[in-house]
Amino acid sequence: MIAFNNPPFVGKELEYIKEAVDSGKLCGDGMFTKKCSAWMRERFDIAHVLLTTSCTHALEMASYLCDLKPGDEVIMPSYTFVSTADAFVLRGAVPVFVDIRPDTMNIDERLIEDAITEKTKAIVPVHYAGVACAMDEIMDIARRHHLKVVEDAAQGVNAYYKGKALGTIGDFGCYSFHETKNYSMGEGGAIVFPDDAYLERAEILREKGTNRSKFFRGQIDKYTWVDYGSSYLPSDMNAAYLYAELEQAERIDEKRHAIYQYYHEALRPLAQEGLIEQPFVPDYAKHNAHMYYIKLKDLEERTKLIAYLKEKGVMAVFHYIPLHSAEAGLRFGRFHGEDVYTTKESERLMRLPMFYNLDMKDVEYVADCILKYFGK
Ligand SMILES: *Cc1c(COP(=O)(O)O)cnc(C)c1O
Repeated sequence: MIAFNNPPFVGKELEYIKEAVDSGKLCGDGMFTKKCSAWMRERFDIAHVLLTTSCTHALEMASYLCDLKPGDEVIMPSYTFVSTADAFVLRGAVPVFVDIRPDTMNIDERLIEDAITEKTKAIVPVHYAGVACAMDEIMDIARRHHLKVVEDAAQGVNAYYKGKALGTIGDFGCYSFHETKNYSMGEGGAIVFPDDAYLERAEILREKGTNRSKFFRGQIDKYTWVDYGSSYLPSDMNAAYLYAELEQAERIDEKRHAIYQYYHEALRPLAQEGLIEQPFVPDYAKHNAHMYYIKLKDLEERTKLIAYLKEKGVMAVFHYIPLHSAEAGLRFGRFHGEDVYTTKESERLMRLPMFYNLDMKDVEYVADCILKYFGK
């Protein structure tokens, strides 16, 4: 069976984990956590990077830092992972879902302004498949209405919008290093932000409401409970795994693009005949080959093709059930405007195997199977 995903492994992970263990410090903010943060600060040109236990937790931190009160509204797409909404629902905020663009599956920036009310506090663009949302337009709306922008860049690590790293454009960016993402530490993430004003609160929030980070830097001589907080910092062993991958970011990026390109070219004849649709990347976006998907005619055809591929030993999978139609989405959120594309496009979308250690022979086989299904 060709898996849909396997966690990336590039080579030095175990060596670095051993180094972390031998250093005698396994908790958060050790040597490898510092190396990962420094790497990202430099590579993504962003002032502050705090490694977290997940992207979900990074989003939770962002929702605290936005100072949301119960009843405040947050605008986001419905076609996204549950955490995008959950992090804000935990604060008592209401996710207001707007429709997506069918070309990129990202929030339709032209529909955001109409969803703004007196209670709106933030916009949460999700860079689906590592393809950037229309950030100039979104930032312009946010500025005019004094809203915060929290980028869910879980899938957008090392992808860019007009040369700027995704996650670094809004007030806060949230990354995921889950095993299904391009760069991994098993479970993990990061919150990134440009504004120094948030640093102290973010550190306190992440360290159980204490000023322990200041203490470790020698800025105070004992640490204490100063505000509310939780424990959002990952163990240095996990950071060691991630650092081995960040060091090899080029290799990972190249391999993923090679897979993406192969699928894209091999399946192009099907798109030319109108049998499938292929992903679209706007000129302003440099994507990171996080995902390769195709869109079929409808739900029925997708179900048939997934079953056919399974029979041929290939795991291809669908993606999100729109949040506004899920049990919790109905309870906690609302959809503003008309669902023209969210449901329809989500039902047609199918993702193909894509991961760093995937054999190119397997990639060829997957593409061949799809061509055969269509009688080519
Ligand atoms: C993976 C993902 C998340 C959650 O990331 P975790 O690190 O697993 O918490 C959130 N949003 C999107 C869009 C994702 O793809």
